[in-house]
Amino acid sequence: MLQVSPVRAFSDNYIWLIRAPADPAATVVVDPGDDRPVELALQAQGLQLGAILVTHYHADHVGGVGALAARHGAPVFGPAREQMPCAAQALDDGGKASLENLGLEFDVLAVPGHTLGHIAYAGHGALFCGDTLFSAGCGRLFEGTPDQMLDSLDRLASLPDATRVFCAHEYTLSNLKFAAAVEPGNGHVRDTLADVQQRRDRDEITLPSTLGRERLINPFLRCREPAVRAAAERHAGHSLPGAVDVFAEVRRWKDGFR
Ligand code: ZN
Ligand code: FE
Repeated sequence: MLQVSPVRAFSDNYIWLIRAPADPAATVVVDPGDDRPVELALQAQGLQLGAILVTHYHADHVGGVGALAARHGAPVFGPAREQMPCAAQALDDGGKASLENLGLEFDVLAVPGHTLGHIAYAGHGALFCGDTLFSAGCGRLFEGTPDQMLDSLDRLASLPDATRVFCAHEYTLSNLKFAAAVEPGNGHVRDTLADVQQRRDRDEITLPSTLGRERLINPFLRCREPAVRAAAERHAGHSLPGAVDVFAEVRRWKDGFR
């Protein structure tokens, strides 16, 4: 199993460090929004930086890319449809991030919605999905349409149940409180909320999740469930004929949920 560890950044970002299977001294960093905590982690663990993967262009995901790339000479991989802060290998849907010397290869999926060029990296039983899929939630629609985002989430959800999901933010607790409002009868949401509440009380990380778990607790992956649809229709005050209508209403509901 791929060895992945979190580096905390800003108030709730996770920068993921992937240990290279082919080189025990090397690591790959995903979405380094800040170079300083990454440098500290590299020093503390005696690791070299082998490559940088980026999911989308937002500052909290790319802020440290330029400094890390310059200091370590590491190759940068990023979305073809977005501006990167330095020279990067442009990746688009169906492409691969091939890091042969490190023993790593990831399939690239285009997942527009949070931003239009957002990509995700899938491989080795892991998914690095940036701000597209969160545990029990999904990213805000800053650029894309509900249609695009639902399509992107459906693509991620088609990966195997055991896939470990490495999201870029610690939003799980607030997402689960919302999920419980949408589906008060969902026992998986209730149990996970109790567990996550305890973890957060101890300031512990709640990630990675798995796709199998997300299918049970994430309202945005459950738009076709009758209970989610009924709750969205009650919130909207009218019927919602399709899954996209349900998704759009649940997303709107979440945007205003406190
Ligand atoms: Zn973002
Ligand atoms: Fe972010």
